[in-house]
Amino acid sequence: MARLSALQLYKLLPKTNCGKCPEKTCMAFAMKLMERGVKPEDCAELKGEKLKNLKEVITPPVRDVVIGNPEHAITVGGEEVIYRHDLRFFNPTGMLLDLSDTMSEEEIKLRIEFVKKYQYERIGKFLKLDGVSVRCASNDKEKFSNIVKFAVENIDKPIILCTTNPEIMKAGLEIAKERRPLIYTAIPENLKEMFELAKKYNCPLAIHSENLDEIGSMTKTLMNARWTDIVIDPGFDFENLSSTLNKFEILRIAAIKNIKEFSFPIMVSTVGMKNLNLGELAAVSEALSVSLCLDRFVSLLVLSHFSEIYNVMETLTLRMNIYADPKVNPTTEPKVYPIGTPDENSPLLITSNFALTYFGVAGDIESGKVSCYLLVIDTEGLAVLVSLAGGKLNASKIKEAMDANQVEKLVKHRKLVIPGYVGRIKGAIEDETKWEVLVGPQDSGGIGDFLRKNWTGGGLDVKTK
Ligand code: SF4
Repeated sequence: MARLSALQLYKLLPKTNCGKCPEKTCMAFAMKLMERGVKPEDCAELKGEKLKNLKEVITPPVRDVVIGNPEHAITVGGEEVIYRHDLRFFNPTGMLLDLSDTMSEEEIKLRIEFVKKYQYERIGKFLKLDGVSVRCASNDKEKFSNIVKFAVENIDKPIILCTTNPEIMKAGLEIAKERRPLIYTAIPENLKEMFELAKKYNCPLAIHSENLDEIGSMTKTLMNARWTDIVIDPGFDFENLSSTLNKFEILRIAAIKNIKEFSFPIMVSTVGMKNLNLGELAAVSEALSVSLCLDRFVSLLVLSHFSEIYNVMETLTLRMNIYADPKVNPTTEPKVYPIGTPDENSPLLITSNFALTYFGVAGDIESGKVSCYLLVIDTEGLAVLVSLAGGKLNASKIKEAMDANQVEKLVKHRKLVIPGYVGRIKGAIEDETKWEVLVGPQDSGGIGDFLRKNWTGGGLDVKTK
């Protein structure tokens, strides 16, 4: 179904403007609903069939599936388009680390601690792993139960339980039921028993088959029983990448074209990948495979490797880029940022609030080992040169930002350093601000050397505490 407009959604609301929701009017609610800022149940007046109908019409072509309890959950799927530039992707691929009941206690502890503590900052956002996948490799119910218990007690992030043995799965679910884990995985041979467990414990169910007809047949069976909390694992063959990726593409296109039996998120576990290079290049092969999965609509991934920088940092960064809204420029808050240990003699520099520009410039100032104040101007997320061309960075905007941030109280000199790319408005800025303007380098990597050479007012040293 085509995406409904705010007006079409409004027609499905009570239209009473009762003011009982934070949006206060039904039209504002409809607009927020379109952007997924609210849920149909947030409307205090919508009940029964009308609520059910609204929920149905806003269900995305790739259904969203929640893994975890309300305190700690991830949502996977929920996408409306094939390619992100057609609209945007909404739910970043869940990335969980594999734990096996044949691993040593030390290895399991190490992996859990890694998932709990690892974070990597990129343009102001902290990138993290989403949870753990607990796998029964021993075929021993007790061993599996022990590791599930250990995971439940030691990490509060979402969990996947991984075995094809319904009896072992049941033992794991008994321990982890409060966490609402993903049951991974049902195959044609155990579908009935695994579905019974999914119903009993109210947990989402993953199904696995490398054959698309078989996947369709399994999802139809579940949907006929009114079950839609489904994730599809179509398998991954490292030596047949083309057919693997084609399969992902077929599944996504089918979902967007409303072929109901394929309207579910795709998952891949690197543990089950066929023909993955398991020698010295295992971690690299896995990183490559994961990147391809991220690029080809996979909504949930289980990783085997975690210590190598390219297994986690690289893939989390790729995920962030793919799932960023292409219509919105990443921005940083426009204000004054002290860098190093500036004082009243330190230079005052300006830049734009495009996040990549800000973090690049701030990093270059730090590595240039100089102290200064960096005034970030609100350029609506545009980079320096683009904002100059588009009129978002000009003399009066700079003056406005200087006044709003009271920079005259921060420093006692009256000198401003501007990026080399905006050198041509030096005169206009001097006229507007009455401050002397120094034109800095075009490449922020040269700021340290530039200031050491041209700044005579002091305040440059980075003081060690
Ligand atoms: S609670 Fe429902 S009926 Fe009331 S204003 Fe909000 S959307 Fe409209």
